[in-house]
Amino acid sequence: MVNLPKNIKKVAQFLELLPGIGEKTANRLALYFLRIPQDTLIEFAEAISRLKQTTKLCQICFNLTENEICSICQDSNRQKNKIMVVEEVLDILSFEKGGIYQGVYHVLHGRIDPLNHIGPEDIKIPQLLERIKNDNTIDEIILATNPDLEGEATAMYITEKIKDLAQQSKREIKISRLGYGLPIGAEIEYADYLTLKKALENRSKY
Ligand SMILES: [Zn+2]
Repeated sequence: MVNLPKNIKKVAQFLELLPGIGEKTANRLALYFLRIPQDTLIEFAEAISRLKQTTKLCQICFNLTENEICSICQDSNRQKNKIMVVEEVLDILSFEKGGIYQGVYHVLHGRIDPLNHIGPEDIKIPQLLERIKNDNTIDEIILATNPDLEGEATAMYITEKIKDLAQQSKREIKISRLGYGLPIGAEIEYADYLTLKKALENRSKY
């Protein structure tokens, strides 16, 4: 393996940038590429090279999209009055997989984490509050941050802010938190959809 040709080494070095891939696995994967048909490899390389340029954040919910507005926000069958607040884009996938939720989302891209110096302004909380403020039809917020310390702190902070906002503008906004169902410390990204369905059904007023 030490004497792999330079061209293969180069591919392996890129693969090593990926999480969970060490040198050995990278070498093995790089060699595996040699077995993939040339057409497929070209398509793969092109898809990767375009990936960053063609990926944007939805202007409404901050989901990933190739357009200005993501497919969920564009979908006229979704209930736009109901926003589920999640930490990461992959959390959306978990809920969408089971088709258990018909509202729309808001992706925070993180959570409040004082130990790592991440405050409310560092994630998409101000944007969430703006969104609610600017759209009077929004009347339900479901907090689906992870059931751990930072997730709870984030949910609590958002709840306070929305309650203030509702009071100031004399609006009725229902706020709920996923019922758990979900084991404490579990990550939504890895939960199966039946567990998520239960958690959604058992959500409690917050
Ligand atoms: Zn969107």
